[in-house]
Amino acid sequence: MLTFNAASAAQLAAHAEATYPDECVGLLLGRLEADLKTVLAIYQAENRWAGQVTLAANDDPTSRRDRFYLDPRDYLRADRAARAQDLEVVGVYHSHPDYPAIPSERDRVGAQAIGGPSFAFVIQSVRAGRAAELAAWLLVDEGARFEQEDMTLWP
Ligand SMILES: [Zn+2]
Repeated sequence: MLTFNAASAAQLAAHAEATYPDECVGLLLGRLEADLKTVLAIYQAENRWAGQVTLAANDDPTSRRDRFYLDPRDYLRADRAARAQDLEVVGVYHSHPDYPAIPSERDRVGAQAIGGPSFAFVIQSVRAGRAAELAAWLLVDEGARFEQEDMTLWP
C-alpha cells in the first residue's frame, strides 16, 4: 500500500510533463511502516540514459522516449536528501510518454538493480504532454513479474 501526499503527486506530474516526450526519473522519499509506504517528497533525478546497453539493430540507442537510466550517484544524492529530512527512499518513479502506466519488460529487468522487496515502482503516464494516470507496482516472485500496488492520495 502506497499513499502519496497531493503536493508530491503534483510535483511528480509536473516533472513528467517537463521532460516529455522523454521519460523522467526520480526517487520517492517518505516513511515505511510494515507494508505501508507514505510518500512525503520526491527527488527529481536526471534521465542519464545514453545508450549504455546495445539493443536491437533498428533501435535508436540514445532515445530516452521509452527508457531511463538512474545513475547510482543520483540514488545516493536522493538518499542523503531523504536522511536530511528524516525520511528514507521508499521507491522510484519514471514516466511513460504516450504509453500506459504499465511496466515494460525493460523496466522489469532494470528494476532488479534498484531497491529491495517493498520498494515502490511508480509510473506516471503522459499523453500528448499532459500527465495522465499514475500507478504503483511491486516487483514480486523474486523479480519475475510486477504486481500492481494499491495507491491513494491525501491532501
Ligand atoms: Zn517504463
